[in-house]
Amino acid sequence: MSEALIFEKSRSGRRAFAQAPQEPAASKITNRFARANVPLLPEVSELQVVRHFTRLSQQNFSIDTHFYPLGSCTMKYNPRACNALALLPGLMNRHPLGPVSHGQGFMACMFELQEMLKGVTGMQEVSLTPMAGAQGELAGVAMIRAYHLARGDDHRIEIIVPDAAHGTNPATATMCGCVVRELPTGADGDIDVEALRNAVGPNTAGIMLTNPSTLGVFERNIMDVAKIVHDAGGLLYYDGANLNAILGKVRPGDMGFDVIHMNLHKTFSTPHGGGGPGSGAVGVGERLLPFMPIPVVSAKETEGATQYVWLTKKDLPQSIGQLSGFMGNSGVLLRAYVYMRMVGRDGMRRIAEYATLNANYLQVRLQAAGFELAYPKRRASHEFIITMKSQAKTLNVSAMDIAKALLDKGYHAPTTYFPLLVPECLLIEPTETESKQTLDGFIDAMIAIASESEADGERQKGAPYNMPVRRLDDVKAARQLDLAWQPPVGN
Ligand SMILES: *Cc1c(COP(=O)(O)O)cnc(C)c1O
Repeated sequence: MSEALIFEKSRSGRRAFAQAPQEPAASKITNRFARANVPLLPEVSELQVVRHFTRLSQQNFSIDTHFYPLGSCTMKYNPRACNALALLPGLMNRHPLGPVSHGQGFMACMFELQEMLKGVTGMQEVSLTPMAGAQGELAGVAMIRAYHLARGDDHRIEIIVPDAAHGTNPATATMCGCVVRELPTGADGDIDVEALRNAVGPNTAGIMLTNPSTLGVFERNIMDVAKIVHDAGGLLYYDGANLNAILGKVRPGDMGFDVIHMNLHKTFSTPHGGGGPGSGAVGVGERLLPFMPIPVVSAKETEGATQYVWLTKKDLPQSIGQLSGFMGNSGVLLRAYVYMRMVGRDGMRRIAEYATLNANYLQVRLQAAGFELAYPKRRASHEFIITMKSQAKTLNVSAMDIAKALLDKGYHAPTTYFPLLVPECLLIEPTETESKQTLDGFIDAMIAIASESEADGERQKGAPYNMPVRRLDDVKAARQLDLAWQPPVGN
């Protein structure tokens, strides 16, 4: 494509409207700090800037423009109202180092958010400070380690992780200095309980579980699992990145979990993807209370009025410490607060019901259309898996080919090749915010792709055909990312 980069539109001397004063106080900057050369910036008009970035935004897939059934990522609609309220000037302009008496409104929101998350998860306390799911996991496993160390159980360093787990789980355990023991999944999608019995022992620190698992099914033996791990002296970690399926229905605390992280950016209304700000708030049960990351907001009754205060190292001397400047991503936390207040208790239940209804509707209709389910005997939770292993064998059409063909039909692809244990898989999560018409449109697209694959499997290998770019080398993009623009030689 010609002029894909804004630099390629640049013409010497062309300018857009300048919001900064023409002559900044350059003279006040000493020579030592002044630039020697003019920076390499594109010289373009305002209209060119507007067109360039608007066009780029339209070349992308987003929830605002497309159905986005990316399993495990919960790409649901995030109500604009949550954003608007999180941007209120009183909240936006609060300085984190301002006196506590000036931040009482903000702290009240944070305190109530902690309380609502406790209610939803059945945990005893919540800390809002981790800034991503992965950081919440780090906090959780660090607390498990701190708990064992405080009891003199230095040898408890083994973390059991099922083979279906999100990649961040084993990565987190390793970063915390633990040793990962992988646990196999049974044919029906539940954990192999016998294998778990054999895996636990005097070195067990804990187990990390996602429930419903990333296979899209609810772990039916969870109470047995909890007993086996607790009896062995280990603790249970709940990966609550996606709470959509369980909101108002079942609580990790009641399943026996000792610690949980929640991706507020997935379940509670912050647009995400592409590495934007997130929140991996953590909840703990009784055993881990002393180790929570700080600060936590607490409420005190003084002279008949509620006063909100920060709990710090003084109050929690065994805390694993501070994980972010101040208290995490306050914008994400405020959106989660507004969202939870907006939908309320009944709304939470409806989220779970529609998230699972939509997933099961898609699952049943895709199965009827000839797609193979990874776990055909199980009901879907908020997501489910189809496997393309027979198409891969007979037609040489892979899960990746189907994912690329979907882009041409106007749908963001589902998650591909995760979880790793299901060959040629697509993990599909429609979320509760999609209409039946949208789901039907997606099913029609899948059916059309299936028949196109039968007719001409080779053609699917070249998809997408209608996108601005075709198949990209994602390994190179990850390993040798080069975003620096250099002027062509001779210019
Ligand atoms: C998204 C996700 C994570 C990681 O969350 P980040 O905010 O991306 O760090 C962990 N576990 C599961 C199951 C997830 O879906």
